[in-house]
Amino acid sequence: MPQFKAPVRDFQFILHEYLNLAQYQDVPGFADATPELMTPVLEAAAQLCEEVLFPLNQVGDKVGLKYDNGKVIMPDGFKEAYNMYVEGGWPSFTCDPNYGGQGLPDVLNMPLMEMVCSANLSFGLTPGLSHGAYNAIMLHANDEIKKKYLPKMVSGHWSGVMCLTEPQAGTDLGLVRTKATANSDGSYSLEGNKIFISSGEHELTENIVHLILARLPDAPKGIKGISLFIASKYDINADGSIGAPSGIRCDGIEHKMGLHASPTCQISFNGCKAWLVGEPHKGMRAMFTMMNAARLYVGVQGLGIGEVAYQNALAYCHERLQMRSLTGAKFPDKAADPLVVHPDIRRMLLTMRAFSEGCRALAMEMALKHDLTQRHPDAQVKEECDAFVQLLTPVVKSYLTDGGFEMANLAVQCFGGYGYIQEYGVEQYVRDARITMIYEGTNGVQALDLVGRKLPLHTGKYLRAFFHPVDAFLTKYKDNAAMKEFVKPLSKHTEYLQQATLWIAMHGLSNPDDAAGGAVEYQKMFALVALAYVWARQAAVALEKLEPRVENRESSKNTVHDSSHSTLATEFYQAKLDTARFYMQKILPQTISLLASITNGSKGMMAATL
Ligand SMILES: Cc1cc2nc3c(=O)[nH]c(=O)nc-3n(C[C@H](O)[C@H](O)[C@H](O)COP(=O)(O)OP(=O)(O)OC[C@H]3O[C@@H](n4cnc5c(N)ncnc54)[C@H](O)[C@@H]3O)c2cc1C
Repeated sequence: MPQFKAPVRDFQFILHEYLNLAQYQDVPGFADATPELMTPVLEAAAQLCEEVLFPLNQVGDKVGLKYDNGKVIMPDGFKEAYNMYVEGGWPSFTCDPNYGGQGLPDVLNMPLMEMVCSANLSFGLTPGLSHGAYNAIMLHANDEIKKKYLPKMVSGHWSGVMCLTEPQAGTDLGLVRTKATANSDGSYSLEGNKIFISSGEHELTENIVHLILARLPDAPKGIKGISLFIASKYDINADGSIGAPSGIRCDGIEHKMGLHASPTCQISFNGCKAWLVGEPHKGMRAMFTMMNAARLYVGVQGLGIGEVAYQNALAYCHERLQMRSLTGAKFPDKAADPLVVHPDIRRMLLTMRAFSEGCRALAMEMALKHDLTQRHPDAQVKEECDAFVQLLTPVVKSYLTDGGFEMANLAVQCFGGYGYIQEYGVEQYVRDARITMIYEGTNGVQALDLVGRKLPLHTGKYLRAFFHPVDAFLTKYKDNAAMKEFVKPLSKHTEYLQQATLWIAMHGLSNPDDAAGGAVEYQKMFALVALAYVWARQAAVALEKLEPRVENRESSKNTVHDSSHSTLATEFYQAKLDTARFYMQKILPQTISLLASITNGSKGMMAATL
């Protein structure tokens, strides 16, 4: 049986020590971000995920969904779990208080999102997409639409979905054909077919709100002719109650590699009544403004899977006895040593730990910066945070989802044959993680966004939002002996990243294939250096926390017994240093081969016969 324990201590570390949220006490919404108030919330979320959602994960995978004449039947237990999620007030956590939300910053929601994804990604898609739809409505709809839909979405009684993809229009949404025609009452009638719509039909909620990309009759061709509409499974009466079915139908569900308990629906719009959200033909712009949050959320899906895969691999490698350590038996009283003594197993486990803890800190930092773009009173801070978020969104979406899949694979490898069979549950993580690299913009398309749009924008302003803080950090710690082992590699590999950036900028201008051909490698290189920056700062915090303990040991008389100075606390910070060290020594050097590949250019690849 697989296991999952929410990493509450690491969430606390990131919120209160690494990000030091106390410094934002005066920013609206941050007053409650204290350890005293947040710890019980984290623990309650952890309990829901560990005890309710996680036990349903394998059930959902094995039982799957049933389609019956337009209806989707969820596996047993999912409806009850969703009701508990709603009763706990979780959908409203970060939503606007004007619509019944609790108004908390997104950074405080990240632990919940990650835990849900670790516990049961199929379940998590419904509330996750709903939150994305909520964001789009908040940002672009008029007050009338907001009042009509948001309170029920915020409470979780209605869910929301995103209807973009059509059979001929995946990455290229300019090919969307769904048609909208104006009615005399200001509404529109929609006709068309969408595919692959996650949570497009289910009975978890009383109503489902659809955000739909469609084309008006006078629309220009391509991406500039797409508008955004809102409609719901059931029409809504003037008093807000639910009316008749609107003409949105689920024509079937897909049978797929993973996420067996997440309905991926074919949806037809058969003259259903819809309303325009935002301006005509500006639908793609509306989608783009909420995409940063949505892409970060998909990144967190990869992270969540990576974490649960790691936990299971770690536990197994402590139990499973195979062979002896190369340097002599470590457990001579046992028939063999546990797997965890072997160097290659340690490489895999530490790779997973470095991924989870590094990416968690990076993702939460992204959420914090996103919050500050909206809430901070200083316009310059807002601008800098926005530039950081814009630049790193494709990097985070792709690295965390590529990584989630890779970590799940490593977990299977740690389990050996027992990983490949179903009993231990880890092969499910490989299957569930795979789609995260594809939806919400494939990872290849994220890389094109990074090199094609984000690098050149505002003459490198976005890049400066990353490189300037790294420089400041390197300067601050340049003479710090304890930090040398982290600062030196960060400095060296930041230089490599700068070389790659320059190469892409110069060659991309004369030959776009050179930039596009190295985009995925460049994106990975960026992630590796961004994570080195994260790990160096985590190490700095850990060293600072350990310092008083070193002094206390030296003075021999003063032994501090409070919780922050316990053996457990020391072990926690020591583990941070171990992982930071592993990251710098064993993972960061990958940038060297990536740089070589990028600067080899695209000529040979483009000339090859395929
Ligand atoms: C389980 C699941 C859930 C989904 N949920 C939703 C949902 O809720 N709502 C929704 O609207 N859609 C959803 N999707 C659709 C998903 O977003 C698309 O599958 C995705 O955007 C890719 O589109 P496509 O499958 O048509 O692939 P294509 O666009 O055909 O791409 C195929 C390959 O070509 C690459 N490619 C395409 N163009 C370029 C280019 N210019 N340069 C280089 N490479 C390129 C892509 O990166 C990809 O590797 C879901 C899909 C699945 C499978």
